Amino acid sequence: MQLYSQIDALRHMRQGLPSGTRIGLVPTMGALHQGHAALIQRAVAENDFTIVSIFVNPTQFGPQEDLSRYPRDLQGDQQLIESLGADAIFAPITTDIYPHQARFYFEIRDLADKLCGASRPGHMNGVVQIVSILFHLCQPTHAYFGLKDYQQFVIIQRLVEELHFPLEVVPCPIVREADGLAMSSRNVYLSPEERQQAVGLSRVLQHLRAERATLPSVEAARQLGQELLQAYPLVQLDYLEILDGRTLAPLPNLPEARHPHAFIAAFLGKTRLIDNLALS
Ligand code: AMP
Repeated sequence: MQLYSQIDALRHMRQGLPSGTRIGLVPTMGALHQGHAALIQRAVAENDFTIVSIFVNPTQFGPQEDLSRYPRDLQGDQQLIESLGADAIFAPITTDIYPHQARFYFEIRDLADKLCGASRPGHMNGVVQIVSILFHLCQPTHAYFGLKDYQQFVIIQRLVEELHFPLEVVPCPIVREADGLAMSSRNVYLSPEERQQAVGLSRVLQHLRAERATLPSVEAARQLGQELLQAYPLVQLDYLEILDGRTLAPLPNLPEARHPHAFIAAFLGKTRLIDNLALS
């Protein structure tokens, strides 16, 4: 396995791959865990050549967010990636990816004005920006994204369709801890008490799924979710939404909805966690 930190070296390697090679790309910000490992394993199984990118992308962090303290562990990541059988790591430095002050900004109609797009202004622009750059540099045939970042997946799938990137976006299920907490690089920030209560996010989602048939409306579901969260006082809700899982559009009503999907984001102390679950 080869580590590429220079763009030119990566491009040169990519150009040397024979046409027709199935190339899997797994974009990550590093500090890898079993959720990332599942994406990498799948990419390795489904492709001839797998590239894992590691880049903590500054443009998707807001000024008050955790860019400077985001966990980094290139050595540990490298060992894990190698053990999973990937072929290359692309770990560029920030000034090579962004040599200039950006002049272009993505306006993402309808899909980014809600959920994390609303709570984190500029975040989805940064995601689309770095993912586009990685697609241009790595030219994968298949790109793997976790459904933990569900809104990100929907936006990237649409980006690929609309801008005709010649690749397939592959969604991968959420990997969870034994108690249901969605794995996240940010879980390392949690104190033992916060870690115990973080399970509240997935518990609420599961409860809403179990109760779905009895819930008369989206508003009733949101209210029930908020009541249930009171059992987890360290969990400060950012949003709890129920939207159409295909389009992220609001649902006129819950009983007749075909693809209701619940989304939650919350702070435990300074740590922001997200989760989501199909209610159907
Ligand atoms: P990140 O390093 O957080 O930017 O995540 C890189 C990729 O891994 C994204 O496509 C995430 O959705 C995915 N991912 C992160 N955590 C999980 C998880 N618990 N289960 C599945 N995919 C995940």
